[in-house]
Amino acid sequence: MKQFEIIEISSGVPIDEPFLATDKEQALEVMLEQRGFRVKEIPVDNDDTVTFICPECKGTRMECCEDGPYCSEITTLDEEGDFDYGPIHASGMVESYQCLNCGYVLANEDSSSIDDGMEVVEWCKENCEQD
Ligand SMILES: [Zn+2]
Repeated sequence: MKQFEIIEISSGVPIDEPFLATDKEQALEVMLEQRGFRVKEIPVDNDDTVTFICPECKGTRMECCEDGPYCSEITTLDEEGDFDYGPIHASGMVESYQCLNCGYVLANEDSSSIDDGMEVVEWCKENCEQD
């Protein structure tokens, strides 16, 4: 345990008795708690994400398939085409994007499969109802 005190910056005077905590982070939590507050992490409200809704099964999870046996779930579709992937992340060439639930493959108008992030974004904007 370490000992902490909270100092008012302008006066340099401690505002309370010193108290024990394991580290500075916990000390801040203790300090807040003593005053009836707590820190709660909330998800970032990111308006730049794109929603995928499968036309076949209405599933909202998409995965990215690469050449070879690799597929990664896409956890966040950023409008810039900068996606977040699930735990399995291969580094091969992207072959297709498909519905994680039913395997529906996203295709261009000429029915070739979409293999580019920005095309996925465009496809979702055209084919899925966005918030
Ligand atoms: Zn589906």
